Amino acid sequence: MQKKPRGLKPTCREVHRLVSEGMDRELSTVERIRMRLHLMVCGACTRFNGQMGLLRRAMRSFPPDAGAPGRERP
Ligand SMILES: [Zn+2]
Repeated sequence: MQKKPRGLKPTCREVHRLVSEGMDRELSTVERIRMRLHLMVCGACTRFNGQMGLLRRAMRSFPPDAGAPGRERP
């Protein structure tokens, strides 16, 4: 069996990687489109993406040396 990348259909694993990398760098248009397409059909990755989005916003509003991450609710 050969493992070939399948064009515009990234795996959950790849989408998780893209979501994580998107926090550190700007994703390319192609990467964003692939991610979007996958998110439209995959609930698990949509949730993951949402959580990362929240995390990202939290990290922006708090300095990195603010201490241990708490479980604050808005
Ligand atoms: Zn997925």
